[in-house]
Amino acid sequence: MEKKSKKLKKEKNSLYSTITSCRICKSSDLKTFLKFGDMPLAGGFIKKEELAKEKQFPLTVVFCERCKETQILETVSSTTLFKDYRFVSSTTETLSNHFIQYAKTMKERFIEKNSLVVEFGSNDGVLLKPFNDLGIKAIGVEPAKNIALLARKKGCKVINDFFNSKTAKEIKKKYGNASLICANNVFAHIDDMHEPMKGIKLLLKEEGIFVFEVHYLIDLLEQFQFDMIYHEHMMHHSLTSLSYLLNLFDMEIFDILRIPIHAGSIRVYAQNKKKGKENIQESVYKLFNLEKSRKIDHLSTLIKFGEDTYKKRDSLIKLVKNLKSQGKRIVGYGASGRATVHINFCKFDNKTIEYVVDASHERQGRLIPGMHIPILPPDKFKEDKPDFAILFAYNYFEEVMKKETNFIKNGGRFIVPLPEPKIIEP
Ligand SMILES: [Zn+2]
Repeated sequence: MEKKSKKLKKEKNSLYSTITSCRICKSSDLKTFLKFGDMPLAGGFIKKEELAKEKQFPLTVVFCERCKETQILETVSSTTLFKDYRFVSSTTETLSNHFIQYAKTMKERFIEKNSLVVEFGSNDGVLLKPFNDLGIKAIGVEPAKNIALLARKKGCKVINDFFNSKTAKEIKKKYGNASLICANNVFAHIDDMHEPMKGIKLLLKEEGIFVFEVHYLIDLLEQFQFDMIYHEHMMHHSLTSLSYLLNLFDMEIFDILRIPIHAGSIRVYAQNKKKGKENIQESVYKLFNLEKSRKIDHLSTLIKFGEDTYKKRDSLIKLVKNLKSQGKRIVGYGASGRATVHINFCKFDNKTIEYVVDASHERQGRLIPGMHIPILPPDKFKEDKPDFAILFAYNYFEEVMKKETNFIKNGGRFIVPLPEPKIIEP
């Protein structure tokens, strides 16, 4: 296999590089279909005193004609991206419950007495903890120091590093082979996809299982979730492209499940070809057929998505401008990466959106990257009673509507930015 350095065009004195070939299949046949221009890191919620250090990077989205993977051209160095990551998984009840259920399913389907589970991108222990609670030996690998610490505080075993062949070897030496390797919402974050795959091949038992969850390209396209496209998400996967990747490592997908997490994800179950014991489930054929019927392997589908994205951005700008011209006060709800994308793509400043509320203590007191809108605790929103709140966390729509009945009763209105910008009337 060719060295990564040959494939990347390093830009001097810069914190990012631009790929010239596909992260999965190494083809150079990449077609651009969407350009965001310069954008800050979506998860780079900063403190006021750090403003001088803030960087912006171009964000260009391309499609690989060979393996059909959608990806971004720019690779921001992983240390810049993840050493101080601010997305804490356990913040929402929906996610916590999801992973408690996940651990139970793994136990029922695959785990035997004394099985070792390894999870990379283990975040704050949102899955490790439920595994531990079920009496399962689980080890996490997490590069973000601050987040790894949170998991350790819950009693989880975590290696503070990136998952690759080096860490895989270390784990194997110390604990033996893993029966199950998990990776959730992390497989889109890795520039050199072949490294974690090599690690998996080294660490997994021959008949072991690799399970991972990723945001799903079909959901991204159909619900116009262009706000999931940012530097931290280098790739947007489909079953078609993931099968291509796994096949390169002599692995196969034997089951797949569409799940509502992050407004549309898939859980993928894979095993070594021939050595794995699981039969290929109907779910896999079904999803392959769905992808074919939606033409996700055609460049024209992506080009259309790009054109629609610009239109949706323009219609949110129009809606907000219109409300501002009537003297309405607008705030944001949910300081996620999605909020950063909308706010920066639309160039909303803090006169347009006064602040964004968020329940995460990790983010409160910081600023939305790029446009520097303050992030405040939800209490502020309750006291302040603005006219409108743009629900950037629209993937938690039901949860928020239940929580904020008073805001609505008092005449406040939510605006959802996607799939079509609109005011939600009760
Ligand atoms: Zn490719």
